[in-house]
Amino acid sequence: MVRAVYPGSFDPVTLGHLDVIRRAACLVDEVVIGVLVNRSKHPMFTAEERVEMLRECVKDLPNVKVQTFNGLTVDFARNSEAKIIIRGLRAVTDFESEMQIAQTNRIAEPGIDTMFFATSLQYAYLSSTIVKEMAFYGSDVAKFVPLNVAEKLRSKFAEQQNG
Ligand code: ADP
Repeated sequence: MVRAVYPGSFDPVTLGHLDVIRRAACLVDEVVIGVLVNRSKHPMFTAEERVEMLRECVKDLPNVKVQTFNGLTVDFARNSEAKIIIRGLRAVTDFESEMQIAQTNRIAEPGIDTMFFATSLQYAYLSSTIVKEMAFYGSDVAKFVPLNVAEKLRSKFAEQQNG
């Protein structure tokens, strides 16, 4: 049984994340998506909202689970009894920090390896931050996020404008 964890903020999940999740789900027995809760940067969506959006997006993938986690990714992986940490690599800019984290994690826990997925070309410049920026200005984000996420972004911004 090969289990992998896929940690991230997922604020919100994009088609780029989902592409990585689908590809990983074909290679390992189980993928546990970890939604990071304790972050100094303030996420737009609560951890519960991020989990809910993700669960809706992966409901057709029986070997993919979604949960929240606190603290270090390597501890999350160990507690989940996972041998693999999945990360996506977009541009070269991702590379340096991801390598640093992967090397540190491997020293901390030699039994756990990081597996990188090179982004699919059409999502190479896609990030949750860009999607939020576009949605904020009323731009259509349907090409970048699943429908349920696009709707949630719309209602979140409407909520903020009214509140
Ligand atoms: P974090 O704040 O931990 O980087 P993110 O939710 O932004 O969390 O990303 C989680 C993981 O998904 C990271 O490994 C990131 O590089 C990867 N990722 C984000 N966007 C894409 C994309 N468009 N294509 C492939 N991988 C991506």
